[in-house]
This record gives sequence, structure tokens and C-alpha cells, in this order.
Amino acid sequence: MDKYCPKCGFRVDDFYFCPACGYDLRRRARAATPPPNPLVAAILNFIFLGAGYIYMRKRLKLGFGLLLVFLLSLLGVAAMQLKSTDVGLLILVVADTILSLSLAIDAYETAKLG
Ligand SMILES: [Zn+2]
Repeated sequence: MDKYCPKCGFRVDDFYFCPACGYDLRRRARAATPPPNPLVAAILNFIFLGAGYIYMRKRLKLGFGLLLVFLLSLLGVAAMQLKSTDVGLLILVVADTILSLSLAIDAYETAKLG
């Protein structure tokens, strides 16, 4: 079975480095996971707040924070309708606080990256 350099397409036979472009062929195993699909990431974030970040494995704290906010918001609205307005409002206040915290942490970490 022929192997090809993933960078330049040159045919290689079990070399550690591509003879044409110098690409480290051993990197292939590590880079085996395909990159995230941008459209899938966008759709996930659109429908389930934060799920797109979790899918991309980037900004995970923000992703999980937003997802929690999303679920709590649904729960809060449901509680307002089914149980009591006070309980529903309390859940929404908690959701809003988690949203603020998630964004604060994300801003802090993003700013620290420079
Ligand atoms: Zn190459």
C-alpha cells in the first residue's frame, strides 16, 4: 500500500520524514483526529448554547458554563409555567449569575493570553 505525505502529496515509503518537503510523518498519528467542522460548531452553538465550544474542545469553561445557563433557563421557564413564578425566577437569576461568571472567566483568560 502506497503512503503519501499529508502535506505535499509526495509518495513516501515508511520514511520518518517526507523526502520532498521534510514533513515529520510520525506527526500523522498524533494529528489523526480530524479538525472540527466550523459549520457544525456554529449550528451547535446556535441551538445549544456552548455546545459548539465543547465540540471544538476550545474555551471549554465558557462552553460548559453556557450550556448550563441554557439548561437552567429552560428549567426556569418550565418552573414558572408549571410550579411557581418565584422558583422559576430564582432559577433564572442563578442562570444569569452563571452566565456573568462564565463570561468574566473567559474574558480574564482571553486577556491573559495577550
Ligand atoms: Zn511532503
